[in-house]
Amino acid sequence: MIPRTAPSYAPAADRYDTMDYVRCGRSGLKLPAISLGLWHNFGSVDAYENARAMALRAFDLGITHFDLANNYGPEPGSAEVTFGQILAEDLRPFRDELIVSTKAGYRMGPGPYGEWGSRKSLLASLDQSLDRMGLEYVDVFYSHRYDPDTPLEETMGALAHAVHTGKALYAGVSNYPPEATREAIRLLDEMGAPLLLHQPKYSMLVRDPEDGLFDVLADAGVGAIVYSPLAQGLLTDKYLDGIPDDSRAAKATGFLKEDQVTGDVVETVRRLREIARDRGQSMAQLALAWTRRRPEVTSTLIGASRVGQIEEAVAMLGQPPLDDGEVAVLDDILG
Ligand code: NDP
Repeated sequence: MIPRTAPSYAPAADRYDTMDYVRCGRSGLKLPAISLGLWHNFGSVDAYENARAMALRAFDLGITHFDLANNYGPEPGSAEVTFGQILAEDLRPFRDELIVSTKAGYRMGPGPYGEWGSRKSLLASLDQSLDRMGLEYVDVFYSHRYDPDTPLEETMGALAHAVHTGKALYAGVSNYPPEATREAIRLLDEMGAPLLLHQPKYSMLVRDPEDGLFDVLADAGVGAIVYSPLAQGLLTDKYLDGIPDDSRAAKATGFLKEDQVTGDVVETVRRLREIARDRGQSMAQLALAWTRRRPEVTSTLIGASRVGQIEEAVAMLGQPPLDDGEVAVLDDILG
């Protein structure tokens, strides 16, 4: 049958030429060194054409991995709806070239099953996510946060069930402390659905994974995809002269609040930016390169509000990596 209209999108032919693809722990899966998250700027409050442009430019640059969660929006769920629309209109023919993840665990719906880590809430949420995106399966399904009140066997059992039923190809956990992660790895191994990936927050300003988590992941051969590598934009030059109107900190729906833009942070970023300048890169590129120095980090998971930010992030991969001397100088500044 001859299509009535020409396809609206043809991906760049050279999309796999410059991106680095990194093996995720000891698994068979490779992830792009830079992945794109849809936490902000893909909700029903945001402009669809900008969201679409960002997703398609990312794919053209070799970003094969798009990270979602049930509650991304606002309104909650709407980032998955937006991504479902981009899939339906543009990316569906390339489904086998995409790694799509979603998560459940934070407050999504009303009542006792609308959050946390029960089998009930996780599996219901996964079905809802698949429905919103129009997908038969996601590549990675995460428990979004550790639930101290639910037996870990139950939460991991739900992830393993998702894998065994083909609704997810791999299991992931996010924001789990090191000891719970170790136990999750053991349980999922036993259940025949090995943990692929941990998703912790990690940046020059938030270094918690260095206190044990990276060791657990390296020991077990589990990958790490680190989120908010720019500390939601703080690790760019955008806040050096105040809070711009079009920044996340200025937006009512943004998770970065004005009081997080402190004098101390701005002063640190000013000093870091000098190093970035000497290296011939932007502050954002220095902050991203800094996450890439750790061998445990499979992928650096960025957010973006415009296409240019994605291009800037990917361009970092063509710049020289940080050497030990530079890392030591940066450590001095970071304290
Ligand atoms: P980042 O730290 O990369 O922050 C992204 C924001 O920084 C952009 O939206 C933009 O905000 C600003 N920015 C990006 N590039 C530049 C630039 N070159 N110059 C100036 N400003 C720039 O990541 P996010 O905090 O957005 O998180 C990334 C992803 O991680 C999320 O989408 C989500 O997938 C995941 N995540 C997971 C969590 C979890 O619990 N598992 C929690 C949080 C995030 P603006 O222009 O609007 O100011």
